[in-house]
Amino acid sequence: MAVETSAGPAKGKLVIRNIGLLLSGDLDKPILDADTIVATDGKIEAVGRQGDLDTDQAATVIDAHDVCVAPGLIDSHVHPVFGDWTPRQSQLNWIDSFLHGGVTTMVSAGEVHLPGRPKDIVGLKALAVTAQRSFSAFRPGGVKVMAGAPVIEKGMEEHDFKELAEAGVSLLGEVGLGSVKAGEEAARMVAWARKYGIQSTIHTGGPSIPGSGLIDKDVVLEADADIIGHINGGHTALPEGHVCELCERSTRAIELVHNGNERVAIAALKAARDLKQLHRVILGTDSPAGSGVQPLGILRMISLLSGLGGLSAEAAICLATGNTARIRNLAGGLIEPGRSADFVLMDRAQHTAGRTILESIALGDIPGIGMVVIDGIVRTGRSRNTPPAERLPEVVTA
Ligand SMILES: [Zn+2]
Repeated sequence: MAVETSAGPAKGKLVIRNIGLLLSGDLDKPILDADTIVATDGKIEAVGRQGDLDTDQAATVIDAHDVCVAPGLIDSHVHPVFGDWTPRQSQLNWIDSFLHGGVTTMVSAGEVHLPGRPKDIVGLKALAVTAQRSFSAFRPGGVKVMAGAPVIEKGMEEHDFKELAEAGVSLLGEVGLGSVKAGEEAARMVAWARKYGIQSTIHTGGPSIPGSGLIDKDVVLEADADIIGHINGGHTALPEGHVCELCERSTRAIELVHNGNERVAIAALKAARDLKQLHRVILGTDSPAGSGVQPLGILRMISLLSGLGGLSAEAAICLATGNTARIRNLAGGLIEPGRSADFVLMDRAQHTAGRTILESIALGDIPGIGMVVIDGIVRTGRSRNTPPAERLPEVVTA
């Protein structure tokens, strides 16, 4: 059952101790030499060895029982509408189900599935402001949904972007899903958005469903949006050579999604690694979509990129956490003081061939989630969606 949760963080101190493996989310140092996290009022305060930290007077103590703790996963590309409902596949509680896949923050790439979505300028601005307000005040299962991402249409002018920014809108929906499909026109609007602090994402590749269109590499390069959205297509990818060219010629973020071409996702990962620019790679599901909703989509991307892409499991997790947090200016995503206390506690799944959680991911399996914490509050115990974890964390005082 989905729980309606207000946006406020925990009050008081949270201690997580006996952490067996602490993953930072930071590609430069993915594994931390620490077994304890202390958080206060929903923010990480200290990370280290239990004996070196002040763990007294905690309101909540979690005994990790030697499992792995990582930053909460971030889905860089979702299409929410309102509440915990998607008309795309007539599903309720899909966001709460993602929580059970370790996702603590998701970023809207446009509320495009709203039945009768307004395409006139005043209407699309009103929808963006409404979605931003709605998801600021409502967190299904506690998940932070960064929404209010207008799909740009022909005729928008600089003042429209200024008004959106002043109203609290900080994202553009996928460029190319509306009537603006030419590179020069998109570039002009993307630049206006950037001028007012609104981050942009472009649809890359063939049309997703009847009625949407092709965005090729030349349009992506000319538009110069901040995020090369689903560079591996959503679903249909550009030719592999064009995708690699985008990685080389653009400096923008490289987004790989579950709802895309897996072969091309691996090719883009390898191109980014050869360029020594893995910090540009971020992960999303691009769901809900025609392929459904994927509560375990981010975990599956991590296992795909590690199992078939040859990336270490700890590095693959950084793509879904610290990389995305830095590129999208989010408060979580990294285990370091000052960041949101958003964590996923997980262990190797029962009966995986991998001897450790990292080895199991490198073999292509997904881990078992035992607990998810958002803003210092325990949001769920053992996941109802992942395979069962070998060992489980436990709240020992509350
Ligand atoms: Zn798209």
